[in-house]
Order: sequence, then structure tokens, then C-alpha cells
Amino acid sequence: MRAGSDSTRPLFEIARLPVLLLSLLLVACQPSIPAGSDAATTPAPEPAGSRELNLYTTREPGLVQPLLEGFTAETGIKVNTVFVRDGLPEKLRAEGERSPADVLMTVDTGNLIDLVDAGHTQPVASTVLDAAIPAHLRGADGQWFALSLRDRVLYADKDLALDGFAYEDLAKPEWKGKVCIRSGQHPYNISLIAAMIAHHGVAETETWLRGVKANLARAAAGGDREVARDILGGICQIGIANAYYVGRMKNEPEGSEQRQWGDAIKVIRPVFSGVENGGTHVNISGAAVARYAPNKDNAVTLLEYLVSDEAQSLYAKANYEYPAKSGVELDAVVQSFGPLKIDSLPLTELAANRKQASELVDRVGFDN
Ligand code: FE
Repeated sequence: MRAGSDSTRPLFEIARLPVLLLSLLLVACQPSIPAGSDAATTPAPEPAGSRELNLYTTREPGLVQPLLEGFTAETGIKVNTVFVRDGLPEKLRAEGERSPADVLMTVDTGNLIDLVDAGHTQPVASTVLDAAIPAHLRGADGQWFALSLRDRVLYADKDLALDGFAYEDLAKPEWKGKVCIRSGQHPYNISLIAAMIAHHGVAETETWLRGVKANLARAAAGGDREVARDILGGICQIGIANAYYVGRMKNEPEGSEQRQWGDAIKVIRPVFSGVENGGTHVNISGAAVARYAPNKDNAVTLLEYLVSDEAQSLYAKANYEYPAKSGVELDAVVQSFGPLKIDSLPLTELAANRKQASELVDRVGFDN
């Protein structure tokens, strides 16, 4: 409650008295409506602005725009998009309860959980969302939902005789001097290391990470696409990177630099070994309803639209990601990677291990 509201209340009530009296007079002058008639049950007109919603997104507007147009065409609800490149939690904190944000869209489970922990989201109860998105890919009480999956895979020299791989294998001596990867502190790797901690504990993960470090062909740096570049350049034979970059590289024009990087590799989806239901590590893009959403119903309607088969396919294809809902049509390049068996670890558990993962990266000097 805002300061001063208590002391001003009596004044408001006095001011409203004449309005009340006038209303009573008007009601008395109107013809009486028989109980149960249509007129008595006609809903009140919708307040102005209710056919809109405000979307705060950290994702490139080009990725989401076609979907939003589809949503508006289907529902008549207009979407006002605010692109927030950095500092979404800070913006929401500054706006407080007057924030116009209805839907928050971002990447990385950690970012979504940070929004929940800071109190910027609210629970959503929707049978549509619960049916579309598996429980381990959404927050407790519907505080957030995954919309697409970003699997972290093995890029391997396309001529390498290798069809299966476990993340644990990265530390095997046979790969000495053959592994490329970006900084251990990058959120994509922190997420993977956090999952390793959840599966095997800190001590075993530390041993593994030291083994991976010993196998590096070059410093842990650059981006995910540079893993493909350096495989083409003969610097390394394998590396870990996100699958969607392969979709991007392989869809570049024939003969372009990035197309050559993409064509030099094959994708193998590793799994965690020695664990029950160990699958491929995924991170996500997802969305939540904002805590003070002025148009909450419209916000939920948008989320429900985003998990429809059509929207899921469009959204995943826009960045060559994997749909969060199963059975949805895939991009052709993504399809060529074969089936995705998602690691069964709940994403919330993985996010809780991020700090320990970061400390481990420093402790083993992974980036040095
Ligand atoms: Fe990325």
C-alpha cells in the first residue's frame, strides 16, 4: 500500500456520496428488469485497453514478430512489444507495481528463475499449458514455461567414426588436445556443468572438469560457432556447442564462410551416462506472466497460443531450436540430427547449482 492512502480515504468516501445518491435516483427511474432475463446477465463492457497486452522480451524482435502477428490475427489482441536487451530484472524492479509488463520472455532457465526469485512473476493455472509443456520444463505453480529447447550437443569432424557420445567422455584421455569449447563461465557451459553436478556430485564433476581442461586444443574462449570453425581448421576434432547454431550455419549461402564451418561437422546429441534417464542437456527459451500484469487474462491467452502446434513449430524454426511441446514439426536441419532424448533433470534443480558450477570453473582454472 502506498504511503498516505489511509489518511486520504475518508475524503474519497465523502466525495463519492453525491455519486452514490445520483446512482440510486437513476436506478429508481429505470424500468424494472425481471430476474433471470438476458439483460440482467449481460456482461459489463470490457474496460478500455483490454484487447492489448505488453510483452517484455530479451529475444530479438525478428524471432517473435511473426508469432505475435499470428496471435493478433487469431485473437484480436494487440501486442505491444518492448525489446529489453539487458537488465530486465532491473527494469521491472524500477517500475514496481506500476509496471505495464504482462508477459516476460527470455532465454536460459537461470534468467527465468532469477525473475521468479525476485518476485517479478506470478503463478499461472492453465490446463492447456500443463498439457503442452512437460513438468520438468516449467516452474512450480506455473511461474514460468519453456517455449523452446536449446540442446547442448557435440560438434564432431564429419569424417570422424563416432555415432554416440556421453558428456562424461569429454574427459577421456583419448581426446587429449582434440576438444574445443567456449569459456567455462559462459551461461551455456555453467548450465551444463550445473547439470553434471546434479547427476554426479561436486567432487566427481571437479575431476571431470579437470579432465576436459587437460583435453583442450586451445583456450576455452570464443563462441559456439568457433568450435565448428576450428574443427574445419584442424585445430580440434570435437567440441560442445548449442545445436541451433548448426541450423544457422547450414542455412547460410553456399560457399560462405559460416556455411563451410557448418558443413565441416556433424551433430551428435550426447547423453549423461551412468544416470537413470540420462539424456541430452537442454536449456530453454521461455516465458512467464508478470507479477503486476494489468492484462493477465490476455497474457495467459498469449502463452496458450505460443504452445499451440503451429506456434511451437514456427517459434522453434525461427532460430532452429527444438519445440518444447512434443510431436511438433521440426526444421529440416534440426530433423537431420535425429531424435532428442531430453535429460530428465528438472531445470529448477540445475539452476540451483549454477553458483557451485561457476566456483568449480574458477577452481580448476578452466578459462586460464
Ligand atoms: Fe546463443
